[in-house]
Order: sequence, then C-alpha cells, then structure tokens
Amino acid sequence: MDKSDTAPCRYHQRNPGKWHCRDCDLALCGDCKPMADRLPDDVPCPLCRTPMADLDAGPPFWQHWREILRYGLERTVLIFIGVIGLVQLITPAGLTTLLAGLPVLILFLYYMAVIIDRSACGSISPPVMAELTDRTRIDARMEWVKAGLVYALALLAAGLIGSPLVLGMVVLLAAMAFPASVMAVTIDEQYRAAFDYRRLTTIARRLGMDYNLLAAATLAVAAIPVLVFYLPGLILPTFIHATLLTLVYGWAGLSLSHAIAGVLYQYRRKLEFGAGMDPIDRPLPPKPAVYEPVQALADARVQMAEDQLDHARVTIGEAMTRYPRNRELNRRFEELLAANGQISALKNHVERVLHRKVSDGDVTGAVDHWLHHRDSLEGWEPKISATRHRMAMELEKRGDPRTAVRLLLALPKMDPRYGRLPEACLDAARMLEEHFADHAKAEPLRKFVQTRYPGRAASWYEKYQLVDKNLQEHTKPIG
Ligand SMILES: [Zn+2]
Ligand SMILES: [Zn+2]
Repeated sequence: MDKSDTAPCRYHQRNPGKWHCRDCDLALCGDCKPMADRLPDDVPCPLCRTPMADLDAGPPFWQHWREILRYGLERTVLIFIGVIGLVQLITPAGLTTLLAGLPVLILFLYYMAVIIDRSACGSISPPVMAELTDRTRIDARMEWVKAGLVYALALLAAGLIGSPLVLGMVVLLAAMAFPASVMAVTIDEQYRAAFDYRRLTTIARRLGMDYNLLAAATLAVAAIPVLVFYLPGLILPTFIHATLLTLVYGWAGLSLSHAIAGVLYQYRRKLEFGAGMDPIDRPLPPKPAVYEPVQALADARVQMAEDQLDHARVTIGEAMTRYPRNRELNRRFEELLAANGQISALKNHVERVLHRKVSDGDVTGAVDHWLHHRDSLEGWEPKISATRHRMAMELEKRGDPRTAVRLLLALPKMDPRYGRLPEACLDAARMLEEHFADHAKAEPLRKFVQTRYPGRAASWYEKYQLVDKNLQEHTKPIG
C-alpha cells in the first residue's frame, strides 16, 4: 500500500489526508478542500490543477485483481456455483435443458444481485446464506434480475442467429454497456435504468479510464463461453463440457459483479449513489454560489502557503469574475495585491469596487471601503466622477466636508461621461460657502455652471430653495 494513503494533511497535521496529488506529493484534508466530497466533480490539486486521488476510495480496482478473482472462489460462492453446475449436470439434454435453464438463470442473476447489493456498499466478503432471503431487498434485487434477463435473452437470440459476426457485435456492445447497466440499476433500483443510453454514457464518462478497464474485463468474461462454444475438436462429452462452462462462467461472472459493484462504491460520490454513502449524514449538494468562492479561497490559501502568490491571485480573480460581490473574495484579493506590491492593480480593483457599491446605492459602504484603503494606497482618490460625487455627499454628511470638497474640486470639468457634473460643481460651491465661508472659491464654480448649463443651474437652485422653504415651514414655531 502507498505511503501517501496514510499521510496527514500538509497544513493540518492532526487531520488525515483525504485527497492526494501524486505529482505534487500533496495530501490535503477536508478543511483544505471544503465541500469537495459533496460534489460529483473531480477535485483539482490547487498547485497543478490535475485531479487529486480520493484516498477514502482506496486504490483503483485493477490494482487488486487477485482479490477480485479470489472472491469467486470463496466458500459460499463456490457452493452456489456448484449447485448450479450440478443442476446442469443432471438435467437431460434437449428441451428440458432450456426449461430448467430459465430458473437456473434467474437464480444466478438473483445471486449476482445480492453480491452487487453488498459490494456496492463497500463489503468485500461474499454474502452469507441468510442474506439471500433478506425480504426488504427482494424488490430492488428483482429489478436487476429483470435487466439481467434482457441481457441474457439478447445474447441467446444473437447466438441462435448463428452468425459469429452478429454474435461478436452483440457481445461487444453488451460488454461495453454492462458495467454501467449494473451501476444504473443499483443506483436507481429500476431495471429500465439499465437501458437508458444517456444514463449509461454519463456513468462511463464519470469513471473515465476505470470504466474502459471494467468494460474490457466484462468482454473477457463474456468471451469465455463464446470461445469455448466455437472451439473446435472438443474432446469432452457435451454434458461435462457444459457443466465445466457453467462453473467457469459462474466464477468469472460473480467475481466480475463484485468488481463492478466495488467500483460503484469507489465512485459513489461522483455517481451520486446514496446507499453507498452514510445515509444519515448524506448532505444535499451545495449551491455553486456557496461552494465555488469557498473552494477558491481554500485553494488560494494552499497556493499562498506554497509561495505561489501569483497563482493565488489568479484563483481568486477567476472566482471574482463569477462572484464579484463576494466579500471574502474581495478581501483576499486586495490582501494579495497589497502583499505583491501591485499598488496600481489594487487601485484599479478598489476603483471597480467603489463604482459597483455606488451603483448599488451602497455609498456608505463605498466610503468605508475607500477610507480603509486610503493609507495603503498613498492617498489615492477614485477617478470615476459619479463615485467621487456620491462619496463627497456622504463624507459631508459624516462631518468631513474638507475631503468632500477636495473630491469635488478635482472633478474634471469636461468629463462628458458624467451627466451630473453641473450639480456636482454647485454642490462643491455650496459646501465651500456653508462650511468654510469661502466665497472666492465658490463664485467661479457657480459662474461656470451658470454660463455652460443655465437650465441645470436654475433647476438646482429651485430644488434647494424648495428644500430650504420646507425646512423653514417645518421649523416655524407653532402659534
Ligand atoms: Zn488541511
Ligand atoms: Zn498537484
């Protein structure tokens, strides 16, 4: 067994590793990969982005093929195969074989279903006899028997046609679909799922290379009777030959069922196979808006710990294109820009944040954000006129008319993109007079608006006089 299988998380020595990247030799715990085990996607390594191995799932099935082959030789499995072989042996040839064949086939498929049922939930030993008659599972297992009968009939029909080519094609197709069919029926407990093309391809795609190997193993098992059937120069009497075939086929078929179900157990998370997971704490899959920012933050934390500040910035930056309003992402992004000394990038970012907050009507938040960053940004002020204007009004309200006036006075007088420039100039003039009695500075601003935007000036004065009049009426002493 790999040493990495037991390695603790690199950043949380107390936590056992849950995900492992072979290339980076990086083991991470559930805290480092939050919510990853609740999602069907691959878990990417934060350092190299290749999928990480799920240490809980154990090694790939083909690495323990010996145990899989031995499974079909366990006592209870052998007894079962022996009984079927015996039935085969004592039934006389002819029509009766076919009549006896059907119950034997059903019995075989049922035993197969019991094995699949158990192995899909992580069991590695064959079922004991008592489990064969578990009443609560009979219905679910019969679904697999139905699906298995369809497979058997298709193969029988193809064999009866007598063309090796047709038989070969059918066997090939059946082998490709079979592992996915077993899994689909086990997950859905519906025999129809075995023949749902989209369901099968989804399963195959999620398993990737492991699926191809399972299909190849299925083809090998399916080819046993075909090869033996067409093998020329048989020296054994037919009934012994048929019995031997049953024994070999039974052993290989049941081992294969165990292998397929074992892979389903390994991939239970990706295939959303509920019964394979703990039924009590099986949570609902989280929403992308919840897990994507959390995962980006966790990945960035690992990247920062590994001194990959640039990668961390890209990780957060990408997540922010999808969730621009996420507070944590913004905070971490600003931290990273400041840590990297990327002051101009930080200024651009804060400019965007302020603009968005102002557009959202959160002027208070914008002012807070700006004041928070003002020192580290060397006294930087936002460039966008609308942002400056709205923030100036808020600063005046907060009792800082000095900063407010400074923001307004620096507005470019010819900014064609800002439609409320005249009002901003008049607001500046008003603040200068109200707070600083600075008529000398206020007058040219008024003049500027009066000459360039006479209509706008008139309505501005009207609005302010209206406000003043209201104020006087409300404050007028009664009586
Ligand atoms: Zn960790
Ligand atoms: Zn890696």
